[in-house]
Amino acid sequence: MTQFNLILLGPPGAGKGTQAGRIVAEYGIPHISTGDILRAAVKNQTQMGLEAKKFMDAGELVPDSVVIGIVKDRLQEPDTAKGFLMDGFPRTIPQAEALDEVLDALDRGVTKTLVILVDEEDLVRRLTGRRICRSCQTPFHVMFNPPKNEGVCDVCGGELYQRDDDTEATVRNRLDVYRNQTEPLIDYYDRAGVVARIDGAQAPDVVYESIRAALGPAGA
Ligand code: ADP
Ligand code: AMP
Repeated sequence: MTQFNLILLGPPGAGKGTQAGRIVAEYGIPHISTGDILRAAVKNQTQMGLEAKKFMDAGELVPDSVVIGIVKDRLQEPDTAKGFLMDGFPRTIPQAEALDEVLDALDRGVTKTLVILVDEEDLVRRLTGRRICRSCQTPFHVMFNPPKNEGVCDVCGGELYQRDDDTEATVRNRLDVYRNQTEPLIDYYDRAGVVARIDGAQAPDVVYESIRAALGPAGA
């Protein structure tokens, strides 16, 4: 059976979380978002959360050792046997190398890296208007993807909130960090021959159709 060991790559606001919901529903693989895991740690005031918070609030990357540890632990869970969808990881070359090592040891490799591309000014508009569900983390947008009832999640009825790091100044820094530290990963995965470039400027359903075309059928 085809393995779906997938990575969603792209700048903050490209639509990774939005597309992740659709991909995991169709392909039956777990969604592993290091951002969601870190935000849960911040909320629960764990040691890791306390350490990570200052980096996240500034729009900087949390140290590699912390996020690599999170992903290594998560990949031990049995639900990842059939595949996984990484969202927001890897973000640096050392993180990508660490992921390759873990997968090598399991006799697995990255099947596809979906790179979602969107212009920078659109990203700023998307991020500053983003609202997230406190319960299921589904993203909405006040203009581009509004919930049916203001402030309430369409999926689970949870409360919507604005992330602390979705302010314009922090967003601009996150985009710089992406360009300097994460964009080089496109070349890294190009060398492995696993990249599919996806035009993320289209409506979410259209973007998803490009993703499906790149991945092929779920049951193959
Ligand atoms: P990421 O996970 O890559 O940071 P999100 O999926 O959270 O991005 O999307 C960022 C914001 O842009 C959200 O407010 C979301 O509702 C909105 N958005 C996502 N995809 C699109 C799209 N194709 N067109 C317009 N807005 C979108
Ligand atoms: P995200 O939800 O993917 O936008 O991530 C939010 C924030 O969490 C980032 O700005 C980083 O501070 C931190 N973060 C998430 N994933 C990683 C990662 N793979 N490496 C380093 N920091 C991360």
